[in-house]
Amino acid sequence: MSRLVMKFGGTSVADLERIRNVAAHVKREVEAGSEVAVVVSAMAGKTNELIAWCKDAGSYFDNPEYDAVVASGELVTAGLLALVLKDVGLQARSWAGWQIPLITNDAHGSARIEKIDGRNLVDGFRRGEIAVVAGFQGLHASTNRVTTLGRGGSDTSAVALAAAIDAGRCDIYTDVDGVYTTDPRVVSKARRLDKVSFEEMLEMASLGAKVLQERSVEVALLHKVRLYVRSSFDDPAHPKPGTLICDEEEIVEQQIVTGIAFSRDEAQITLREVADKPGVAAAIFVPLADANINVDMIIQVVSDDTTTTDITFTVPAAEFERSMEILEARRQAIGYAKLNGAQDVVKISAIGIGMRSHSGVAARAFKALAEKGINIRAITTSEIKFSMLIDEPYTELAVRTLHTLYGLDAK
Ligand code: ADP
Ligand code: ASP
Ligand code: MG
Repeated sequence: MSRLVMKFGGTSVADLERIRNVAAHVKREVEAGSEVAVVVSAMAGKTNELIAWCKDAGSYFDNPEYDAVVASGELVTAGLLALVLKDVGLQARSWAGWQIPLITNDAHGSARIEKIDGRNLVDGFRRGEIAVVAGFQGLHASTNRVTTLGRGGSDTSAVALAAAIDAGRCDIYTDVDGVYTTDPRVVSKARRLDKVSFEEMLEMASLGAKVLQERSVEVALLHKVRLYVRSSFDDPAHPKPGTLICDEEEIVEQQIVTGIAFSRDEAQITLREVADKPGVAAAIFVPLADANINVDMIIQVVSDDTTTTDITFTVPAAEFERSMEILEARRQAIGYAKLNGAQDVVKISAIGIGMRSHSGVAARAFKALAEKGINIRAITTSEIKFSMLIDEPYTELAVRTLHTLYGLDAK
């Protein structure tokens, strides 16, 4: 008998009518003879609401309690879907992460999955039961506390569960019918891809395409899970296959650039007139690393006098204030003249395994953006992608320009 994990995101379970529609998709697969585990997200907007409540609760921020609160959204959806499935004559039960159990480390708020015991769910399958699993959550065993897996983490719950129960497929149902060349809500000419390689999908997810959480792609790659992204809004009686995330060898037609991603989750920091001598970069970046702040793009410009330099880098937007405080506190030790920050910036990236074998791909982008009057503040490149930091108001123009430049527009 085939085994399948189906995951439904927030918009797909936004109200009872949508949950009934999810039940119709599940029923179809059960009737086709599959053993099914369904992973659900919180109803649309719920997690944001719960996070806001935690913030309003007081100035004391306690990560385990934050997780206890935000994990509740998924529990509600799991229970409701189990009720609706029973209503259409199927056997089902809901599972909280700790009941499975899905074991994580203790990094509350962005915990990593360490182990999943699939036996309880498999026993349920033998009784003819559909497992409805609350996504996004797990258990840190030795402290006996609920953890959550970071925003978008239900994708990772689903893929890890598929590996644990040896499912032949993991279908991520969402509000778009697959992975596109760029966010279809921003670029109307975005094109759906039939297949995307694991490597490209990893880059796209890490560079801002939130259609899959990055870790879910890592887990799929590691355990060779057959992963599809598809739409819950398709007619349950006539579903479309969606996009397959697969090995590069499975993709016949390779483009040089496969997709354009963008992330508004960036902030830029510049230190002006820093002494140009050994040890300065360490004086800046070691304290940031010690504070667990992830520095991304770095550029250093030597000034005319050749004794000082300007250093610019980016940090996640959420870490901007903390980074500025750390650097201000170390003004003497680092020895800079001025500290500037900018939060109205965006990182635009082009991704494609074809870049390995083609040169000048990024240079074409620099020229195209220059022609549109868009200033590039920082650049980074690696084997299969390059990223540029630009001013936020130019986001759409820049994404559309690159999308056309690399021949990605839908015909
Ligand atoms: P869910 O709630 O189902 O997890 P998400 O909102 O997390 O859904 O992810 C789906 C959204 O991802 C889409 O609505 C789309 O706007 C966005 N997205 C960004 N980049 C892409 C892309 N390259 N392909 C498809 N969707 C994308
Ligand atoms: N509900 C969580 C979030 O909004 C997890 C998820 O939907 O994947 O981030
Ligand atoms: Mg998501």
